[in-house]
Formats: sequence, structure tokens, C-alpha cells
Amino acid sequence: MTDKTTGGDVRLTGISKTYGSFTAVHPLDLTIPQGSFFALLGASGCGKTTTLRMIAGLEDPSSGTVFLGDRDVTDLPPYKRPVNTVFQSYALFPHMDISENIAFGLRRRGIKSVKKQVDDMLELVQLGDKARHKPHQLSGGQQQRVAVARALINHPQVLLLDEPLGALDLKLRRQMQLELKRIQTEVGITFVHVTHDQEEAMTMADQVAVMNGGRVEQLGAPADLYENPRTTFVANFLGTSNLIEAEVVETGSEVVVTAGGGRLRVPGDRCTDAVRQGGKLLVGVRPEKISLTHADDAGAIADGRNQVTGRIADSSFIGVSTQYVVNSPAGAELQVYEQNIERDARLRPGAEVVLHWNPAHTFGLDATQDID
Ligand code: ATP
Repeated sequence: MTDKTTGGDVRLTGISKTYGSFTAVHPLDLTIPQGSFFALLGASGCGKTTTLRMIAGLEDPSSGTVFLGDRDVTDLPPYKRPVNTVFQSYALFPHMDISENIAFGLRRRGIKSVKKQVDDMLELVQLGDKARHKPHQLSGGQQQRVAVARALINHPQVLLLDEPLGALDLKLRRQMQLELKRIQTEVGITFVHVTHDQEEAMTMADQVAVMNGGRVEQLGAPADLYENPRTTFVANFLGTSNLIEAEVVETGSEVVVTAGGGRLRVPGDRCTDAVRQGGKLLVGVRPEKISLTHADDAGAIADGRNQVTGRIADSSFIGVSTQYVVNSPAGAELQVYEQNIERDARLRPGAEVVLHWNPAHTFGLDATQDID
């Protein structure tokens, strides 16, 4: 049994989109759990909007099926799908006040007594005191909240958001991210949010699908994607990664590799299948997981830590952390972010250092994969 708020997962099976000889979305299988805040994340042109539009019914797929719960909606026109879309351009009616804008969907369906529902929506988006204002009297963030309220009053099973915060300045964007997350938690329906901003996706979403070249490269919770990227694209698109060329010498529950003359350990479950089969790989570690010790003091480094030597090329103090660029003997340029460093204790350019970190924070990627 399904109802308007529990309509089931959004399931895409074999969905693709081609324009002439160009494939914007390669056949894609994706399940978006009911009630989740789900982000489609990727650079411009990766196919995220096309995917969203196929869920909305605004774009016909070249192959595949769109399910909402058990229902195949592939051939339904947009207005017959229990789905609403919020676009970057809010498209509010300028001559109507905020209440009338929000009530529009209900009025169009001939519903007369709308006051209670409009008031509930105004409260949900915290604009109760703006009911009689016209859109131009509201800030960009407030207008965006009206657009969300106008969509939600129709009780869709799924709300699709296409770069809804793209027109806002950075500060307002950050506020609206938290605001949208709060609204989603309160209404409990599925939100599918398209963005190219990795921080936005990480802040808001329960699950993120990272898209690249019309394909989903990796799907997971933000922390999993960050800590355990499976492709070099994901490792570099979400935050900064240090990727060091290495060669496998032992595989098992722990993979041992040689890199830059030393040995590094990588947890087996943080390696791709190709890496576990041996050969060349890229060993990854995030900049904030690395500590720096002057080479003269290397004896004090605890046993069992992964270690690479290098020479400081540059350091900059950016308030919350000190960021170092370190050149390794093998020619790699490594980034290290250290927090709580006293000004006097900062290492100077030219210093010989050892970079060291807990092996648990290391991941192993296939060095031969295509990098777009
Ligand atoms: P953006 O953030 O720039 O909107 P996106 O990841 O959402 O990017 P899409 O809008 O899904 O990307 O477009 C994916 C690819 O398909 C792009 O290369 C785009 O140029 C192409 N494309 C989209 N619509 C059409 C169309 N109607 N005809 C031809 N090519 C199209």
C-alpha cells in the first residue's frame, strides 16, 4: 500500500539518454531510497540535470524504466507524476503575493479552501510574516523558500531540485542548505537535489551519486565517499587527495605496497578489486590525515605508521590550519593540512620531513583507470 508521503523508492533501471550520436547519460541503474535527501553531484555537463529531468518526465529516456515505488511512470507526462520540480530560477508570479503564489497549485486544481494549507506551508518555510509581500520584496533565499513551499503544497512523493541555490551568494547558500535539509526532515518526502558543489552535496545529502561523463562513478553516504573514494575522479572531486604511485608487494586483508622507496600499508577493504589483484596503483591519503615531523626527529614517530619522506616546498597559515606543500623524492607534490600548530613550531620551506599517518586512513585506487 502506498500513500502520498510513503510512495516508495525512486528506481531507475537501464535509464539512458542520447542526443543524436552523443550519449548524455549511459544506461544507469539507481535506487533513491524513499524519504532520503539524495544528491546528484558532478561537474557541468556530466548528465545530472538530464537524469533529474527523466525522473520528472520532462525528458523522454532513450532506454530504461522509471519506477516510483512499484509504479512504472516512464510513459506518464510530468503533470501526472507525483513529483514536483524546483528550478534555479524561482519563476514566482510577480503580480501575486506570497500566499497566492503558494496557493497556485491548489487553486489550479479547483480547490477552494486553501488557507490552512498555505498557512502550514508559510510556517514550514518560516515566512509567516511575509504572506502579503510580493516576490520582489523578498531576498533571493526567501524567494527560493516560496518556490519550495509552492511545490510542497501539492504533496508530491518526490521533490526534485535543480541547482536551486545556484543564484544565491555563498553565505545565503550555506544558510539555505541547512534550511532545505530542515524542511526535508520535517516533511519526510524524498528530495533529489542536483548540484555541482561538493560541499553542498556533502552538507545536505544522506546519499550522493557522483556523476562523471554520463555515468555514476560512486554512490554512497558523504563520509564514505570522502573516506573511501573508489576512483581518482571521486578522490579529487570531493576534497583534496594525495595520490602516490605505488606497486603492490603483498595482498590480503592488508595490502602492502612500495612507494617512494618505502613500504606502505593499505587496508584490503579500502582497495579496489584491481588493486587487490596486484600491480600498479595509486595510494591515497587526505591532507588532514597526515602529520609532519622534522627528519631529525623521525625516531620519535610511533611504530606502524605509514611514512614517506619529503621536503617542504611551501607553507601557508590560513587561520584554522597550516597548509604545507611537500615534494617527495619521487617527484610527487603532496598537500598536508595541520591544525593547532603554534606559529613558532611551523616548519619552514626547505626542511627535510617525514610525512606519516595511520594506515587505516589510506586507500588504494586502480592506476590504470581512465581519468576524465
Ligand atoms: P549543468 O550543470 O551544466 O546543467 P549537467 O551535468 O546537468 O550540467 P546535463 O544538462 O544533463 O548536464 O547535460 C549533459 C550533456 O548533454 C551535456 O553535454 C549537454 O550539452 C548535453 N545536452 C543536454 N541537453 C541536450 C539537448 N537537448 N541536445 C543536445 N545535447 C544536450
